[in-house]
Amino acid sequence: MIRNYSRFLTLAAAFSAVMLHAQPAQNADWHKPFPAFRIAGNLYYVGTADLAAYVLHTPQGDILINGNFPEDVPALKKSMQQVGLKYSDITYILISHAHADHDGGVGLIKRETGAALWVMQEDATEVESLAPGRPGARVDRTLRDGYTVELAGAKLVARHTPGHTKGCTTWTLRVMENNQVMNVVIVGSPNVNPGTLLVNNKQYPQIAADYVKTFATLKSLPCDIFLGAHGAYFGLKDKAVKLKAGNANAFVDPNGYKTWVAAKEQEFTTEWERQKKSPGSPKK
Ligand SMILES: [Zn+2]
Repeated sequence: MIRNYSRFLTLAAAFSAVMLHAQPAQNADWHKPFPAFRIAGNLYYVGTADLAAYVLHTPQGDILINGNFPEDVPALKKSMQQVGLKYSDITYILISHAHADHDGGVGLIKRETGAALWVMQEDATEVESLAPGRPGARVDRTLRDGYTVELAGAKLVARHTPGHTKGCTTWTLRVMENNQVMNVVIVGSPNVNPGTLLVNNKQYPQIAADYVKTFATLKSLPCDIFLGAHGAYFGLKDKAVKLKAGNANAFVDPNGYKTWVAAKEQEFTTEWERQKKSPGSPKK
């Protein structure tokens, strides 16, 4: 009974956090399990049909990017099993940004695995927050732009791509596939969510300038394999079908990356111009 009630509270809290943080509307794919697979090299997809989570596997432990919602953690465990990985091997937990659909489960994962949680400095307070729907997880190390996470020869670079949240992080890494080095980009999020003020935002005065900086950073990154915090960013479902059908390069999509970043920049610019003309009217 108490258990059920606390589960209800967790769900209610997650829901209210979604509202507070002006997330996109609940998506049917968020909690839908998705078959896990190896993307390239030692990088695996272990997320749901839309909430992307990744494991970079090394002989000395695994690095997890994104915990999704707490209710998605059992699916994450199963996904890791499917590709021969062990949940208990998670050594580092990283996130795309401090919104419940990516960091809600990190407190639970940290408790269960003892992994170290490393978060971009500007999102750390949100991750540690005990407010409803926030993970309330202690951050072991705060990161800044360019900091690396290294384990047994594997290396991830944290790029600070703020705007969507103040500490939004795009992860870059290199993997080897068929004796070729591939540049991987895991985009944090360049989206302007409904409810966001780009002009006269008292909680986040430099928000528009941050988005501008983020697009400059995203355009500067070398990208062979295009990934992101949501499967919908990079066409997860279609590409996974192609990979399964035998196209080993299904996720190699440098042009798709450039086109998508350009489209997102255009969306942002259009919305910013609109808000400049009517300050105080948030994104619909
Ligand atoms: Zn978000």
